[in-house]
Amino acid sequence: MIHQVRGHTVDEQGRCTHWHSELDVVANRCTVCDEFWACHSCHEELAGHVFGRVLKSDLRPAVLCGCCGGTLSYRQYAAVTACPHCAHPFNPGCKLHEELYFA
Ligand SMILES: [Zn+2]
Ligand SMILES: [Zn+2]
Ligand SMILES: [Zn+2]
Repeated sequence: MIHQVRGHTVDEQGRCTHWHSELDVVANRCTVCDEFWACHSCHEELAGHVFGRVLKSDLRPAVLCGCCGGTLSYRQYAAVTACPHCAHPFNPGCKLHEELYFA
């Protein structure tokens, strides 16, 4: 895996103490520290600054699939229900709090 997922991770696929179902493999990039985090709560507890949300128009990597290490822009991520690189399904519930990660 090229990128390392930060946070209270519990495995090698980016699951953390807060979100750890089979589907919870997505990590989100914070624009302040430019690191991929397992979840918003992990960032809040460890980073020491407010999560820098990625602009939805930003075409750079916004999320990382912890399963294969592949990255997606917001637009790519918003259009799929599974990783386009390795086909691992994403948690559809993440869309409910996407305002924490994207602006
Ligand atoms: Zn940060
Ligand atoms: Zn977490
Ligand atoms: Zn993947």
